[in-house]
Amino acid sequence: MSTPSILVVEDELSIQRGLQEQLQREGYRVAVAGSVAQALAALTARPDLVVLDRRLPDGDGLQVLHDLRARGDRTAVIVLSARGQPDDRVQGLEGGADDYVGKPFHLRARLARIKAVLQRRSEAPVSAATICFGDVVLDVGARVLRCSGRVVELARMEFELLLYLARQPGRTVSRNELLDRVWGHDRFPTTRTIDYHVLALRKKVEADPAAPRHLVTVHRVGYRFDP
Ligand code: CA
Repeated sequence: MSTPSILVVEDELSIQRGLQEQLQREGYRVAVAGSVAQALAALTARPDLVVLDRRLPDGDGLQVLHDLRARGDRTAVIVLSARGQPDDRVQGLEGGADDYVGKPFHLRARLARIKAVLQRRSEAPVSAATICFGDVVLDVGARVLRCSGRVVELARMEFELLLYLARQPGRTVSRNELLDRVWGHDRFPTTRTIDYHVLALRKKVEADPAAPRHLVTVHRVGYRFDP
């Protein structure tokens, strides 16, 4: 595999430079942008991963993510934000981000997430199959979810989480197992991360997200998929 390239979109120079230096030491090719406009221009170089700050001088970094996904571009995106509210996290993940890291953070934590996302990206695609439940069809090979025939966008980890659960119908899966098996080598997401993803998934696949029939909470343990 060629050296992965990373675009760091961050307007705080100390963070931008710190991250750039550290990533370069790890062997990545790094480009930087300090605004939404610069980021959109830098995307033409097709980076493997984008680390995206939300508060930028000319707008919300999520614009960059929306622009990418609107074009059907699945480039990995990690959203950073000083806004730590659950709604903001869900917004970022629903916008198609692969991960979301709140500030303040440690550089090392960010680096671990970057590695985890790039590693997932380089893994071989899962074998093709179709999983159906309710009026939902998950085309595993194409990584496309349809609800009543309508295509529904899934963030990368929403897809991985749904696939892991749906392949084991009726089995209760603990949050720790999900962290190990779905989030993999990244030890920084918390069980809260899983809950955010389940919440986002329910809004997409459940007829009534408040009374889920397929992605069921198993109190104090984790989740179970019922077809
Ligand atoms: Ca900022």
